[in-house]
Amino acid sequence: MAASRTLRIGLIPGDGIGREVIPAGRRILEALPSSLGLKFSFVDLEAGFDTFKQTGVALPDRTVETLKKECDGALFGAVSSPTTATKGYSSPIVALRKKLDLYANVRPVKSVAPSPAYPEPIDLVTVRENTEDLYVKEERTYDTPDGPVAEAIKRISTRASTRIATMAGEIAARRARVRQGLGDGSGKQALVTVTHKSNVLPQTDGLFRSASFAALAQQRFKDAGVKVEEQIIDSMLYKLVLQPAYYDVIVAPNLYGDLLSDTAAALVKSLGLVPSANVGDGFAIGEPCHGSAPDIAGKGISNPIATLRSVALMLDFLDQEEAAAKIYAAVDGNLADGKLLTPDMGGKAKTDEVVEDVIRRRHCLP
Ligand code: ATP
Ligand code: MG
Repeated sequence: MAASRTLRIGLIPGDGIGREVIPAGRRILEALPSSLGLKFSFVDLEAGFDTFKQTGVALPDRTVETLKKECDGALFGAVSSPTTATKGYSSPIVALRKKLDLYANVRPVKSVAPSPAYPEPIDLVTVRENTEDLYVKEERTYDTPDGPVAEAIKRISTRASTRIATMAGEIAARRARVRQGLGDGSGKQALVTVTHKSNVLPQTDGLFRSASFAALAQQRFKDAGVKVEEQIIDSMLYKLVLQPAYYDVIVAPNLYGDLLSDTAAALVKSLGLVPSANVGDGFAIGEPCHGSAPDIAGKGISNPIATLRSVALMLDFLDQEEAAAKIYAAVDGNLADGKLLTPDMGGKAKTDEVVEDVIRRRHCLP
C-alpha cells in the first residue's frame, strides 16, 4: 500500500445550491477507499454574494490566505450574480483565479448516452486560457466628431500561450495513456485542436497559434501519442455543434474559450453534469459549471454530479489519478444505471440519494 498522504482541501460553498453540492464533494472524498492511502482534512471558507451582503466583502482575505498557506486544493460551489450592478461587488471566483494565478480553466464534457442528434459518444475537454486576451479589461472611450468610440485591448503573451498549450498537451497525453490502459480500440492517440482566428488577427492570435504549436511540438507529447491540429474559431464552433464526437482536447485563448466551453456544455443538456477546474502550478480548484440555481436552491434536488466530477478533476491535477478514476467510474455507473437521477435528468431522486448511490459504486474499477 502507498504511504498515507493527507491533502488539505478548502471548501467554499458560496451561494444557492453551492451550499448543497459542496457537502456532496466532501462526502465523496471522505468515502474514497482507504487502500488508496489518501486522507483529507477540510477547512470551511467563505466567499460569494451572501458573504458580501453580510460583511461588505465578497472574497474575505482569510479565504485567500488560507488557500495560499494551508491548502493543497479547493472546491468552489457557485456564486449568485446580482441582477443589477452592485457597488463594490465583483465575482470572487474571478478574483481568486487572479490571486492564485489559476491560469487554466479546464472543462470536460461527456455525453451520458447516444441521442438522435449525437449517436456517437461525446468526450472532449476544453482548455481555456484564463488570465489575458480581452479579459485584461483595458477599455477606453473617446470622443470623435462622429460620436464616441470605444476600444479594448486584446493582450496575448508568449508565456501565457505556452503554458496553456503545455497544459493541453499534458491533458492529451494523460487521455492517451488512459485509452492505452483501457485497450478500448481507440488506439493510444489523443488529439489537441488549437483554435484561433489568426487569419484576421495575425499578431495576437498569430502569436497564440505559433506559441501553442511550439509548446505542443515537445518530444514527450509526440512519444505519448498526442496529435495536433488547428481550426479557426468560427468553423470550430460550427463543427463542434454538428460533429462533437470528432474533438478530444481543445485549447483556446480566453474569449474563444469562454464561448467554446459553454457551447460544449450545452451538448450534454444538463448543467448539473458538467465539471470544471481552475488550475495553476501545483494548485487546483474544482468548480461545477452551473451557477447558484436560485430556482431550485433549498429543495434538496440539485444534481451533485457536476460537483463530484469536479472533485475528480481537482484530484487529477493534484496527481491523484487513481482516486479520480474511481470517482469518474462511480459517477458513470450511476448514470448508466439510470435509476437514481435528479429531476434535471428526468428522475425523482434527491441530491443525497444520488451521492449515496455514487458512494456505493466507488469501488468500481476503472
Ligand atoms: P446564477 O446567476 O447563479 O448563474 P442562474 O439563475 O443563471 O443563476 P444557473 O445555476 O446558471 O442559474 O442554472 C440555470 C438553470 O439550470 C436553472 O434552471 C437551474 O435550476 C438549472 N441547474 C443548474 N445547475 C443545476 C444542478 N446542479 N442541478 C439541477 N439543475 C441545475
Ligand atoms: Mg447562470
